[in-house]
Amino acid sequence: MTTEPTPGSASGWDQATYRCGRCGAESTVTTEEAYLQAVGVHADAHALWDRLNPIERDGLVSILRTILSAPALGFEFLALADRQQHTGDGTQSLPDPAVPSTNTPQPDSSPSNATARATE
Ligand SMILES: [Zn+2]
Repeated sequence: MTTEPTPGSASGWDQATYRCGRCGAESTVTTEEAYLQAVGVHADAHALWDRLNPIERDGLVSILRTILSAPALGFEFLALADRQQHTGDGTQSLPDPAVPSTNTPQPDSSPSNATARATE
C-alpha cells in the first residue's frame, strides 16, 4: 500500500491514490473520508476472500455478478425468501457469516417483514 498525496489544498492534498500491495488494485480519491472508505472496503474484500475456499469464492462471485447486474432482482429475491421463510417457522436468518458487517449494505428494509410480523 502506497499513498501519493498531492499537496495544494487545505487538507494538504487534492487527491490520493491507494494501491493495494496484495492485488495491485488502485483507487484514486479526493477526500480523506473517501480514502478511508476505499481502503476499508478493499481490506474487507481481502478478508472475505481469505476466509472462503475456492468453491465458495466461485459461488459468491456468481451470486454477486447476478445481484450487482440487477440490484432490484436481489432485493426482490430477498423479499421472496422472507415470505417463504415466514410461511415456515417464522424466523428470519440470513446465513452469511462470511460477510463482514462493516461497509456491507444490509437490504433488511423489505416491507414484507412488517406485514408478515404484524400477524404474529
Ligand atoms: Zn488488494
